[in-house]
Amino acid sequence: MSVKNCKRCRLHKTRNSVVWGRGSIDAEVKFVGEAPGAEEDKEGMPFVGRSGTLLNGVLIDIGGSDIFTKIFITNVIMCRPPNNRRPLPDEIEACGRWLRYKIKIKAPRVIVCLGRTSSDLLISNSCAWNKQYKIKGSIYIPVYHPSYVIRNGSKGEPMKKFRQGIRTALKLGKIIGD
Ligand code: SF4
Repeated sequence: MSVKNCKRCRLHKTRNSVVWGRGSIDAEVKFVGEAPGAEEDKEGMPFVGRSGTLLNGVLIDIGGSDIFTKIFITNVIMCRPPNNRRPLPDEIEACGRWLRYKIKIKAPRVIVCLGRTSSDLLISNSCAWNKQYKIKGSIYIPVYHPSYVIRNGSKGEPMKKFRQGIRTALKLGKIIGD
């Protein structure tokens, strides 16, 4: 079955797009968020709504305007949950096959887990923000989800910590220097 026709979970009934990912699948730094939102579902691209504006701005600021040729951005699940609810365990399980493929096709140096859903799934539910976890040859870093940073005013401590996490990931991935 091709990914754009995937019907492995109930979300295929309400989606407009299967949101595969953006950037280079061979990248040394891969970002994994939670799920597409309304804008992402409409455009078929991850992180193009409000959260994307914040994430993309920070990435360009730290990594330069060509950053999106050097990284890969995706989500735990590829179809939008109704009303932007959190993905259910069976949906995460069903989409895991695709996520594992995207990660393993070329194991990156660094995987940034954006938010709790991704961090719990790929690292553990006791992991600490911005800490580094070595798993099967890659370094995993749990970083706040950009929507959390927005909810907290897009400045102050959450933004500072978010930027620190992104900078560390890009350094470890050798995309930026020290
Ligand atoms: S969320 Fe994933 S598993 Fe579910 S239908 Fe969409 S692509 Fe398939």
